[in-house]
Amino acid sequence: MRTTVGIIGAGPAGLLLARLLHNAGIDSVVLESRDRAYVEQRQRAGILEQGTVDVLRAAGAGERMDREGLRHDGIELRYDRRRHRIDFPALTGGRSVMVYAQTEVCKDLIALQLKEGGPLLFGAQALAVEGAESDSPRVRFRHEGRESVLECDYVVGCDGSWGVARTAVPAELTRTFERTYPFAWLGILADVAPSHDELVYARHDRGFALLSMRSPSVSRLYLQVPEGTDAEAWSDEEIWRELERRFETADGWRLERGPITQKSVTPMRSYVHEPMRHGRLFLAGDAAHIVPPTGAKGLNLAVGDVVTFARALAHRRETGSQELLDAYSRTCLRRVWQAERFSYEMTTTLHRTPGATPFDDRLQLARLERIASSRAAATDLAEGYTGFPLD
Ligand SMILES: Cc1cc2nc3c(=O)[nH]c(=O)nc-3n(C[C@H](O)[C@H](O)[C@H](O)COP(=O)(O)OP(=O)(O)OC[C@H]3O[C@@H](n4cnc5c(N)ncnc54)[C@H](O)[C@@H]3O)c2cc1C
Repeated sequence: MRTTVGIIGAGPAGLLLARLLHNAGIDSVVLESRDRAYVEQRQRAGILEQGTVDVLRAAGAGERMDREGLRHDGIELRYDRRRHRIDFPALTGGRSVMVYAQTEVCKDLIALQLKEGGPLLFGAQALAVEGAESDSPRVRFRHEGRESVLECDYVVGCDGSWGVARTAVPAELTRTFERTYPFAWLGILADVAPSHDELVYARHDRGFALLSMRSPSVSRLYLQVPEGTDAEAWSDEEIWRELERRFETADGWRLERGPITQKSVTPMRSYVHEPMRHGRLFLAGDAAHIVPPTGAKGLNLAVGDVVTFARALAHRRETGSQELLDAYSRTCLRRVWQAERFSYEMTTTLHRTPGATPFDDRLQLARLERIASSRAAATDLAEGYTGFPLD
């Protein structure tokens, strides 16, 4: 098998990249180790930055998002039983975000790829990337019980945090930066209308909680729990009681309960792999960087990476210049580190670290007070949340 761009992984990064390349008249093959149902049902991100929304629309993948997604013009911060709204358009010159689940983004992109795009092979596990430093890198993969080789001009590793692509970058050329957090998120999906029309980020002495949503009738809620927690160790009653405590306000706001249809635990981690390019191998999305989900940045960063790669390759085709491909890692990392910083600050402001002292608690409250009382501080949050520029 031969193609211009071999893409490993059909998460949002790999699927969008295939679409962008197709639109630019560049052929690709996508290898995905899991089956289609798994990829379409894996519950993860739900917040699309303004820039991501614009990219999906321009790629011809925004039709259902525009029909079913929920535009959000702000979030609520909750602390000390008080509420404070951050108004995105007022603080950022009109920017907002869209609530539209990653599962739906993937379904839309898969449908388009299968209808109009190049090959997308499910159940095709990449085993290794070879010859990254040569002009013709290869992906060795297993599909339907047979080992095959995909010959490419370029390989893009969009294979997530446990993929194989980045292992092809020699250790002596790699630097990694990492932080793990001593807590995790217990996330639930519940068949109940969201109790608030915007996301609520709550800082509480018992730990962080987040109220989010997937649709007008499905709520997505999270609780900070100790690292290593087993989701099944929490009964539905315990989860609702704890959520009620952490979201409680002085003005009598009520959390609506409903049947819990899914529970899972997500560890919290920050990670960056530098560089994001080695020869003709490029890394994109979670394959190169992880952020804790507090800042809602992971999927949006993945989109930024593949837009940068697709533009660079199109530029190479049009002008013969290698310049943008050479700048890929540097260009992406500038945005990645801003997102790492933002996600870290949101996480450390809102979560209670085990062993935190009363001094630490007061500092967190002072940071939240500052955001609530200063337009400059609120603008910083709003700009970070609605997204850093792609260019
Ligand atoms: C609970 C949770 C909540 C989140 N909330 C948000 C949010 O609100 N906003 C946000 O922006 N981000 C959020 N994120 C992060 C976001 O989901 C990820 O950043 C996003 O999935 C990254 O996309 P990706 O395509 O890079 O990687 P992935 O989605 O991980 O896709 C990688 C794909 O590669 C495949 N693969 C792996 N190895 C191989 C192999 N060897 N061969 C072939 N295929 C392979 C995998 O099966 C997978 O389909 C959240 C994450 C979690 C876990």
